[in-house]
Amino acid sequence: MRLDKLLAHSGLGTRKEVKKLLKKKIVEVNNEIVTDPKIHVDLDVDHVTVSGETLDYQEFIYLMMNKPQGVISATEDNMHETVLDLLEMQDSLQEPHPVGRLDIDTEGLLILTNDGKLTHRLLSPKHHVDKLYYAEIDGIVTEEDQTVFEQGVILEDDYQTLPAKLDIVSVNEDTNTSVIKLVIQEGKFHQVKRMMHSVGKEVTYLKRLEMGPLKLDDQLELGAYRELTSEELDLLR
Ligand code: URA
Repeated sequence: MRLDKLLAHSGLGTRKEVKKLLKKKIVEVNNEIVTDPKIHVDLDVDHVTVSGETLDYQEFIYLMMNKPQGVISATEDNMHETVLDLLEMQDSLQEPHPVGRLDIDTEGLLILTNDGKLTHRLLSPKHHVDKLYYAEIDGIVTEEDQTVFEQGVILEDDYQTLPAKLDIVSVNEDTNTSVIKLVIQEGKFHQVKRMMHSVGKEVTYLKRLEMGPLKLDDQLELGAYRELTSEELDLLR
């Protein structure tokens, strides 16, 4: 990428300010002073310093968000706010994307990154990354439902899901409602809602708590996000 763009996106000022910086002859690329803002640099091979300090530019970004209801987990949408609109880094070069989708009315753990390899690994059907959901249900969830889920539910389009672990947290006979936790290995469209529907119950509230080894940070308010720690990243890789 162009040197002035790289410097600007590394927090060293606007393109105009960066040009002034270059004129001061304090920027070096591979130990040579550079003043031309247009030269192209590749941080995989080039070493850039400013006043002797190595440029602090992170190519990849890894975020955990507690997605609120009402926003779409996509990079753009004509009608609704997207999860990217919640990030305070709109003109960053890093351009993260959401890893998989949560419905507009689903809350909880959403990873955002620009590391396509990680996204692929987490979403690839071959890898069967477990997803843990908390759900509130209209209807009484039963032990028979647990057995059906264990064996794989046949959805309305005849697709049979992979075995899923259904835990009944509580049932309330008076209100005819239940609270469950469910681990699924796939990420089909509206999967949890369709699985419950296939046993005659409806999801009234859904929140993702875990994705593989990554747990939603319970300190994150709805709509808030933070970078993954290096420990969390190691778990995912
Ligand atoms: N299953 C659903 O039905 N919706 C989601 O958002 C995620 C899983």
